Amino acid sequence: MKRSLLLLLCSLFFIVSCETVPITGRSQLSLVSSQELTTMSFQAYRDFLSKHPVVRNTPAAFMVQRAGGNIQRAVGLYFARQQMSSRLSGYAWEFNLVQDKAKNAWCMPGGKVCVYTGILPMTRDESGLAVVMGHEIAHAVANHSSERMSQQLMVQMGGAALSTVVTQNQFLDIFGLGSQVGLLLPYSRVQESEADRLGLIFMAMAGYDPRAALGFWQRMAASQQGQAPSEFLSTHPSDVTRINNLKVYIPEALKYYLKR
Ligand SMILES: [Zn+2]
Repeated sequence: MKRSLLLLLCSLFFIVSCETVPITGRSQLSLVSSQELTTMSFQAYRDFLSKHPVVRNTPAAFMVQRAGGNIQRAVGLYFARQQMSSRLSGYAWEFNLVQDKAKNAWCMPGGKVCVYTGILPMTRDESGLAVVMGHEIAHAVANHSSERMSQQLMVQMGGAALSTVVTQNQFLDIFGLGSQVGLLLPYSRVQESEADRLGLIFMAMAGYDPRAALGFWQRMAASQQGQAPSEFLSTHPSDVTRINNLKVYIPEALKYYLKR
């Protein structure tokens, strides 16, 4: 009796702790509140920007702002149509370009985006940039960080996570949130594909041709040959599977692009 009650409570817990990813409809574990994550993310973003040279008032910096703003509006519109606007309520969007030769970009929970100058030769133009930013923003609005943390919590704390309220200190222990990297745990393959698919739809809704994605990922793959993988690629595996997936996702996204 006791055991079945426990099982019932556990399954209830999982039901209330799951969310659904927009568009793909995939169900995900969500033990970490997005509010809590957003607060930590804003702090980490400020810390990061204070320690890295931010590029301002250049054509490239304006392009990052413009592409980001366009994708932000597209995401807002999409979520509003799906009656999911509340999911973006804690967002305080920001799009910055930092001087750094790494081919990298990311979006922290809550809409804090950072593009590194090192990736610009790969993106080439605004559509290429929209591929990268659409992908990163998709990770954020699909709550991928929260999902990764929840999975980590399950592994690290096991059953304890079920009954304990996770404190900020426990977060720090598990994820090393002193550094901004802690908020950006490597994404899983499933999440990568999902971000590719959602990112293409968001960029298309924002007015960018999603066909630009193929060229971008091919350039990224070619640039890696004979070199150690960059940060962006190490967390963003570029392989035959990705290119094949893109060939399925691009026609889907094109419908949003042509419909505008
Ligand atoms: Zn990714």
